[in-house]
Amino acid sequence: MNRLLIFDTTLRDGEQSPGYGMDSEQKLRLARQLEALGIDVLEAGFPAASPEDLAGVRNIARELKSSQVAALARCTEYDIEACARSLEPAVRGRIHIFLSTSDLHLAHKLGIDRPTALDKIAKSTRLARRYSADVEFSPEDATRTDLDFLIQATQVAVDEGATVINLPDTVGYSTPGEYRAMFEAVRARVAGIERMTLSAHCHNDLGLAVANSLAALEGGARQIECTINGIGERAGNASLEEIVMALHVRGGIYPFETRIQTHLIYPTSQLLSALTGVGVQPNKAVVGRNAFAHESGVHQHGVLKDRRTYEIMTPESVGAPPTRLVLGRHSGRHAVAARLTELGYPVSGTTLNLIYDRFLRACESGASLSDDDLIQIALDNRPPPDPPYTVSLVQASAGTVRPATATVRLNREGQTYVACALGDGPVDAVCTCIDSITGHPARVVGYELRAISEGRDAEGEVSLRVLIDERVFSGRAVGPDIVEASARAYLSAVNKCLAARPEIKPPQVPAVNNAARESFVGAQP
Ligand SMILES: [Zn+2]
Repeated sequence: MNRLLIFDTTLRDGEQSPGYGMDSEQKLRLARQLEALGIDVLEAGFPAASPEDLAGVRNIARELKSSQVAALARCTEYDIEACARSLEPAVRGRIHIFLSTSDLHLAHKLGIDRPTALDKIAKSTRLARRYSADVEFSPEDATRTDLDFLIQATQVAVDEGATVINLPDTVGYSTPGEYRAMFEAVRARVAGIERMTLSAHCHNDLGLAVANSLAALEGGARQIECTINGIGERAGNASLEEIVMALHVRGGIYPFETRIQTHLIYPTSQLLSALTGVGVQPNKAVVGRNAFAHESGVHQHGVLKDRRTYEIMTPESVGAPPTRLVLGRHSGRHAVAARLTELGYPVSGTTLNLIYDRFLRACESGASLSDDDLIQIALDNRPPPDPPYTVSLVQASAGTVRPATATVRLNREGQTYVACALGDGPVDAVCTCIDSITGHPARVVGYELRAISEGRDAEGEVSLRVLIDERVFSGRAVGPDIVEASARAYLSAVNKCLAARPEIKPPQVPAVNNAARESFVGAQP
C-alpha cells in the first residue's frame, strides 16, 4: 500500500473564492471538523493578506494536533515572516511558498525574467527553511510553464531545502495524460527529487481537476491538494470527496491509503454549506442531494432487490442519509408499494392497483412526489382523517428590536386554541406558536419563498418541508403576507402528519373562550 497525503485547502483556496468567506470562529469550526475527517495537512490561509488572516491561521495552528498546518506565502520576506509568525504555535507547521514560472505570468503578472525568478525561488526557499523544517514550493502555472524551465525552477527549490514540490494546474488547463507526463519528467530529471514529496493541485475549469489529480498519482505524486465540495477559485479545486471515494471504490486501480474517515465526508460537506450558506449542487458526486437517489423504475426495482445493482458505494460509507428512491412517473408499482410499507401503509392487491393509478395521475405534471403526497394518495382510499387544525388568526411583530413576537389562534373540532411566542424572527415565532398548540414540534428542513408575480406587492409563495418523527412532510401556501403564508404552509405540513397519525391526540392546552383568551393573551410575553 502507498500512503497518500491529503492536503486540504478549503480554508485557503476555497475560502478566498466568492461567497465562501468565513470569520475566524467559522474557520476554526471547520478546521476541527477537517482534522476529525483525517486530513494530513490543512492549509489555513494566507497570513500576509491582513492581520486578521494572520490571527486566523494562528488560531488554527494553536488548535490542531494531528493535522499539520500550512500557510501560504509569495516569495517575499514579508509574506514568509508572516507565515512564520502565524505558525509559531503549531505542533507541525509548513510554509508553502509559490512563484509563477510560466512566461506568461513572468512577463505580465510579475514583470521579471527567468533568472530573477530563479533567484527569488532560491532566496525564499532558504529563508522559509530558516523558520520551518517543512517547506513546500509551488511553481505557479506549472502546466503552462516551459518544461525545461520548470525542471530548473524545481531543481533550485530542491537544492535549497524544500521538502514538498507541488506542481499546480493553476488555470485548470491540463489533461490527465499531460499532467501525468509532467510529474514523470520532473521525477526523471530533477536531482534529489526522490527525497521530496510530489504534490498535485488542480483546478476544475474544464471539469478535469479530479481526473488530473488521479493521473498525477500514476505519475508519482503522493500528496493531493483538494477542497471540500470542490470549492475554490473560479470553477473550483479538485474535490476531496470525489478523490477519496475514487480511491476507496477503485482501490484495485489506485492502491493508495489515506487517513480519511469516509463516514465523516457528508457531515463535513454539510457543515461547510451551513457555515457559508452556499448549498451543494443536487447532482454533485458523492455529496449532492441526488447522489444516492434513484428515480427510474428499472433502477428502483434493481436497488430494492440488491443495492449493488445501481450503487457503487453506499450512502452510509460517506455518512450520507440512506438511499432515496424518488417516486415519479418512472417508478413502478413495486417501488410505490415498498415506500408505502416503509411509511407504515402496507398495501397490496386491488388497493395497490387503485393507489398506483392515482399515483400515476398525480405524476402527470412531471413533478416528483414526496412521502406525504404519497400518504395523501393512500389515505384517499381510507376513511377521512380527523379534521385538521385551521388558522383563524396570525399576528406577528418584527423589526430591528428583537425578539419578534407572535400570536396564533387555531381551531380544531369546534375548539379554539391560542398561543403566543417569541422567536428569532416572525416566522420562527409563529411556528413556535403552532408547535405549542399542536404539541408536536416539527423541524423545518427546507424553506423557500418565491414571488409569484412582479412588483413589491407581489404575492409570496412559501414552500417548506418539515421533519416530524424522521418523516418529511411538505406544506405550501400563497399570500400577500409572507409571515401569515409561512404559518399556513407550516400548519398544512403538520396537519398532514397529524392526519396520517390518528393516535396523536390534541394536547391538553386549554381551549379558550373569549374572556379567558383575553387574559391568556395578556398574561403571555
Ligand atoms: Zn489554486
